[in-house]
Amino acid sequence: MTEQNAAPDNAIEVENLQKVYAASGKMPEKHALKNINLKIPRGSIFGLLGPNGAGKSTFINILAGLVNKTSGTARIWGLDIDAHPRQSRAAIGVVNQEIVADPFFTPHEMLELMAGFYGVPKKERQTDEILAAVGLHDKKDAYVRQLSGGMKRRLMVAKALVHNPPVLILDEPTAGVDVELRRSMWTYVRELHDRGTTIILTTHYLEEAEELCDTIAIVNHGEIVACEPTSQLLARLDYKTLAITPKEPLSAVPDALSGLDATIRESGELAITFRTSETGIGRLLEQVRQAGIGIGDLVTEAPDLEDVFLSLTSETA
Ligand code: ADP
Ligand code: MG
Repeated sequence: MTEQNAAPDNAIEVENLQKVYAASGKMPEKHALKNINLKIPRGSIFGLLGPNGAGKSTFINILAGLVNKTSGTARIWGLDIDAHPRQSRAAIGVVNQEIVADPFFTPHEMLELMAGFYGVPKKERQTDEILAAVGLHDKKDAYVRQLSGGMKRRLMVAKALVHNPPVLILDEPTAGVDVELRRSMWTYVRELHDRGTTIILTTHYLEEAEELCDTIAIVNHGEIVACEPTSQLLARLDYKTLAITPKEPLSAVPDALSGLDATIRESGELAITFRTSETGIGRLLEQVRQAGIGIGDLVTEAPDLEDVFLSLTSETA
């Protein structure tokens, strides 16, 4: 596959992508994706973040060939999905939201079947290596129905890797997964990334995207409302809150501070929100002292992705 060897700048490129699900039964027509334009750089850990129903799985399933797009174009690893349906799909491994595992196969058999399905020659298969990598080597000959939920999910990841795709797509891989397993999944995903795999994941866990992804696209109601490097997205909210525990309890914000965005919290803290580009903490503290407030303790609070998300999605709601 020469086009694959050329290693394109973008792992995924999507232009004017739309999906309208036709009405069926009691379900009305649904415009699930509205003119999506997105470039996912090769080598990134890219997060598609949005609430339930935003269109994340629809997007992933179009790339995977499970859902037909209504209009627009999509390229995977430089290959148009209409012109090169097989080749383009060979460049991705997709881990779906639902766990589908035949209970009567063993993990080893399942991976061998998948490898066969992708046409991977026997001598090139890496079944044992992959099973070891996802921590299932000691379960390789167990029946899948005997595996725990977490093990089944790891098996789904293993299945997506049998053809050694340069791009791994994970649709809500940690939904319903306990904290410990989530940690170990992420460690493994990072390892894959370090070895050169482009990672795309969808999540509605804000902390997850913030912690893991270098770039985040926020999708809401079938539209991309932001797509930026994670740090830039966070920097967009150019404010911090200074929370001061006064030495003496305050009943109201002193008049001397009326020019600031200041409130008294139930905890008794004096909370002053300020634009980091306009004001420094030193200047604020000076004003607080001049207002006659003794400072017992203080912390600064930076906005997290939840704040970014809320402000962006409320703008377009
Ligand atoms: P997400 O993965 O972000 O939760 P989905 O892509 O699953 O969102 O769904 C986006 C919207 O499309 C939702 O309103 C959902 O109800 C609708 N939808 C998804 N699949 C179908 C389908 N097969 N038929 C009709 N509507 C669908
Ligand atoms: Mg989904």
